[in-house]
Amino acid sequence: MNSQEDYNLENRVLDLISKSLNGITNKMLQNSIPDVGVVQLVDALNKLTEADKIQIFNKGKQLLYMAKEQNSSGKFKTEDVEEKLIYQIIENAGNKGIWIRDLRFSSNLPQTQVNKILKNLESKKRIKSVKSVAASKKKVYMLYDIEPDRTVTGGTWYSDQEFESEFVDVLNQQCYRYLQQVKICADKLNDPVSQRNASYKSSKDICNYINGLKVSKVQLSIQDIETILDTLIYDAKIEKTVISNLQNKSGSENLYRVTKSLVSSCGLMRVPCGVCPVHTECHEGGAVSPSSCPYLKEWLDF
Ligand code: SF4
Repeated sequence: MNSQEDYNLENRVLDLISKSLNGITNKMLQNSIPDVGVVQLVDALNKLTEADKIQIFNKGKQLLYMAKEQNSSGKFKTEDVEEKLIYQIIENAGNKGIWIRDLRFSSNLPQTQVNKILKNLESKKRIKSVKSVAASKKKVYMLYDIEPDRTVTGGTWYSDQEFESEFVDVLNQQCYRYLQQVKICADKLNDPVSQRNASYKSSKDICNYINGLKVSKVQLSIQDIETILDTLIYDAKIEKTVISNLQNKSGSENLYRVTKSLVSSCGLMRVPCGVCPVHTECHEGGAVSPSSCPYLKEWLDF
């Protein structure tokens, strides 16, 4: 191959690389110019790298070639290529985002360079950082306009990555109160079968009721309400039954109703001293004593 042919091949390769905004792999290059042998292609790539016209990155086990952009003085800008690569990795991470350490491994760039690019992209509002609940509140990066995944934000029960325990308590109480009201109405029916059937409410009905109360600023989903109802099941306050419903995508529907405690404990069983961790030190004149104990007073008042 003479020098003119070399020059033409370099231009062909550079043209292909420049057209591929997200970079191009060896395989893609070979497929695009099947008439060129591997040795000639490698030679052209080496010359383009030496001339500082392209940059090579690791993408998994493959090499990725990206063209450097020319500035007004005719020089090729390395920063633009690196920035483009970081942007592309963040874009690929989608709504789950990517942690800075993974970003560093994927881009093969030094930490200081990655930090600089991230700062630059953030100032241009092309990307944003979000504290991930799933990753112990570590920052993950994603595209600016992307709505973070529930696993990142923690979903409805988190605000600024903090768990909203009061909000969950309120919803818990409202769901329980609603099912209690349903049970009271059901108990007025004559036969036991009708009473039982009428005591159930579907999670969809409960969700509509809770949304109607407007206790939440955001519209709660059936899935959100079922999470709350699960906590009531764990507290043995309600029970769940699943029926088939072909109108639902899943083909089934979850119904809930309040339960009566299977065993009602007598007053003596509820005395706090039985489970008191400091009962061995409890005596009149001691650090804890029956006459000053708030738990015992509460039990006696009850
Ligand atoms: S009186 Fe209060 S402090 Fe003493 S054993 Fe009972 S619960 Fe514990």
